[in-house]
Amino acid sequence: MKWKGQRQSSNVEDRRGQSGSGRGSGGFNPMLIGPLFKLLFSKTGLVIVGLFLAFSFFTGNNPLSLLGEFFTGGNSPTETSVPYQGTVEENELAEFSRVILASTEDVWNGMIENYREPTLVLFTGSVSSACGSASSATGPFYCPGDEKLYLDLSFFEDMERKLNAPGDFAQAYVIAHEVGHHIQNLMGITDQVQKLRGEMTKAEYNKYSVRLELQADFLAGVWANRSQRMSQMMESGDLEEALNAAYAIGDDRLQKQSSGRVVPDSFTHGTSAQRMRWFKKGFTTGDLSQGDTFNANPL
Ligand SMILES: [Zn+2]
Repeated sequence: MKWKGQRQSSNVEDRRGQSGSGRGSGGFNPMLIGPLFKLLFSKTGLVIVGLFLAFSFFTGNNPLSLLGEFFTGGNSPTETSVPYQGTVEENELAEFSRVILASTEDVWNGMIENYREPTLVLFTGSVSSACGSASSATGPFYCPGDEKLYLDLSFFEDMERKLNAPGDFAQAYVIAHEVGHHIQNLMGITDQVQKLRGEMTKAEYNKYSVRLELQADFLAGVWANRSQRMSQMMESGDLEEALNAAYAIGDDRLQKQSSGRVVPDSFTHGTSAQRMRWFKKGFTTGDLSQGDTFNANPL
């Protein structure tokens, strides 16, 4: 891809290096208990406590909540002490992700009225979201609750090494797929599918999950089509990289690779063939009305 020099999105929260800390709210450090007790029972400690109580009396703040906030580092994401020092490769991937996100903004702003742009959260190790906490092993995901995409850049390395799906356009496809889930959320499709969860067996529900995932692949294809028309970032071989990635993360292939056994009832994302087909359909048509995976038969 020719992505260097293209616009970078500002809707990115870089939480790399803040492992598991979510929005910068660190836990209470037990190492502090000893010195804290010593301080409380010293003269200076009594003065500090007195000042705290006086302060809270005049300001109406609860002194305990203030203490709590002080020793847990507060809730502000801006309070991280040291900025994350990524390797040159990591920082280039971060820059790349900003460019791809910006490209999805350009495409979807042009196709959806009053499009609400999602936020991309970059993290390392683990992260907390409105959908709960997750580790890198979860893989990239979108959380409808906070309208954010979560991505540990090491996933791109895994794609190349473990899944045999290298290439920058393969990486772009992953981001565009997660943005596809955001589009589904804005359109109310995610909600409709979620509602079905309690109404049927797991195997039945999985079929809807597959249709939802294939639609996200389709939407990633639509993005690729439109973005290519707008900014010509694709080079020869790029389409193949995305199709190869879609192939690599098909349920049947992943199951075969991990257990040697394929159980279609447990599919949640679709087969390699289906994922390739729907991405390609989005890419060749660039037409949203072609993406009704829920009524498509056969899939
Ligand atoms: Zn998905």
